[in-house]
Amino acid sequence: MFSFKRSPLLIRKINTNKAEIYLTFDDGPDAQCTPAVLDLLREEGALGTFFVIGDRARKYPALVERMIHEGHSVFSHSIDHRYRHYFRSRAGLKTWLTESLRDLEAQTKSQQKVFRPPAGVLTPPLMSLSQELGIPLILWTHRFYDSTRPWIESAAHKSALKIRPGDIVLLHDSQKSQNCSIFLKTLRFYLQDVKKRGFLFQI
Ligand SMILES: [Zn+2]
Repeated sequence: MFSFKRSPLLIRKINTNKAEIYLTFDDGPDAQCTPAVLDLLREEGALGTFFVIGDRARKYPALVERMIHEGHSVFSHSIDHRYRHYFRSRAGLKTWLTESLRDLEAQTKSQQKVFRPPAGVLTPPLMSLSQELGIPLILWTHRFYDSTRPWIESAAHKSALKIRPGDIVLLHDSQKSQNCSIFLKTLRFYLQDVKKRGFLFQI
């Protein structure tokens, strides 16, 4: 995923003319929803990038293995998803960031080249560390707040109408249990809608 000729510091979309978009799934793995998301992606022939939380990945190693085995990318959304790190000193923040990357490197046995900050928070120390370490921060072009409220088809369709080459779509495979089935239904609708517009899903 995100193979850059030159790495910008902050990425909200990928620079490409190809009809490809980047699906990203945050906050997992989740025991209930992630397997169903993986099933659906396989059925729809779509690949995505999972920005996992290190501590959750450790709880569900088989799910991380499955993501990799099925061709998806797995990158870091921090080790613990705690916002308090943003208030630490630069050195403390650096420890958290490097530990997050190293921890997931050990779990996935592959190099961690990018980072998605929890809640997409960007602080000047985090921006400067990403430059120092050569780790781009990946944000998004489209979001639905699907971790706090049910993701519905009308919102998905509105986004599909506006999709452009290189757009990054933020979703969450970690869903409240009561929202997982509507999330899956809308995800299937969205994937088909985007495909109808001639777009493929890139990692
Ligand atoms: Zn998150």
